[in-house]
Amino acid sequence: MNDFNPVLQLNIERDLPEASLKLLLQSEKWDSSLTAAADRKRREIYADEVYLRGLIEFSNFCKNNCFYCGIRAGNQNAVRYRLSKEEILDCCVEGYGLGFRTFVLQSGEDPFFTDSLLCEIVSEIRSRFPDCAITLSLGEKPRESYKAYFDAGANRYLLRHETANDAHYRKLHPESMSLTNRKRCLYDLKDIGYQVGSGFMVGSPYQTVDCIIEDLRFLQELKPDMIGIGPYITHKETPFASFQSGSLTLTLRLISVLRLMFPYALIPATTALGTIHPQGRELGLKAGANVVMPNLSPVRVRKLYELYENKICTGEEAAQCRSCLERRVAAAGYRVVTAIGNAKKEHML
Ligand code: SAH
Repeated sequence: MNDFNPVLQLNIERDLPEASLKLLLQSEKWDSSLTAAADRKRREIYADEVYLRGLIEFSNFCKNNCFYCGIRAGNQNAVRYRLSKEEILDCCVEGYGLGFRTFVLQSGEDPFFTDSLLCEIVSEIRSRFPDCAITLSLGEKPRESYKAYFDAGANRYLLRHETANDAHYRKLHPESMSLTNRKRCLYDLKDIGYQVGSGFMVGSPYQTVDCIIEDLRFLQELKPDMIGIGPYITHKETPFASFQSGSLTLTLRLISVLRLMFPYALIPATTALGTIHPQGRELGLKAGANVVMPNLSPVRVRKLYELYENKICTGEEAAQCRSCLERRVAAAGYRVVTAIGNAKKEHML
């Protein structure tokens, strides 16, 4: 029993039985060897490269009422905004000049942006920036809508499953939403041909270690190209105002577990991670993450896209964010690259 080493086994087999996984997630004992193994794995596949994604948060209107989210429809105190098509394009122009080759368009579920308007925006970006990836993160839509955006030129879609446990899903969302539909969306997106990103919050209210294991199992089934996780961070204008935020240690441990389970995945060091700790994103990179997503939204709206409290980088211009991150990534021992940054596949090596 003394030589029980879940890190070694996870490293070799890319998987662990339930009981070992549970031990690994619940103990600090293996943290340093886990981080080291994850970093070795990421360097083997992605060297020291860190890919950039320019995030454009173009609307904080949302018809949903997720209990954890600061821009939920029920938050009467949120100041709402929308960017125009021209403003979105201006963000892309600025981003392109700064070396961004992926634009991530994210919003609440805002019915103002109809499929035809979204397609117009996507095709305009596609024709003006043919060498860039267009990532959408607009929430749950019918399959036909996803297909229309794809045909207009979108390549990637981010939709975290949030939790793969049905009872937990119902504790985080109102009755109008369901895990079944969330999963349907993810499989439709894959089937249409998108590179898909999924993921979950770490330490969300009522999450247990068993929920996390279900999340990992679901990801093994979905096989996404990108996996985004970040700590849950509380927001006072939500029903979860009295809950604690998620932990840095567990988030980092999970990034490393993900890197060993999904060696080829694109894993961001998220803004939420940078929000709960001043060095959060650097620690995320050292734990196995290989993507950063600086904000390209106009500074006047940054603070308003408030999913959670104390979000970082709300005061700086895109160029400042870009150079600040470049320095931080370098200080952590990695290198920001301007490549489009698709996921590497086993057969490519
Ligand atoms: N409407 C889109 C975008 C949601 S915002 C969608 O449904 O996918 C992007 C992610 O932020 C969410 O998927 C969620 O995982 C995360 N998020 C929301 N509220 C949060 C909070 N309070 N703390 C941490 N992350 C949060």
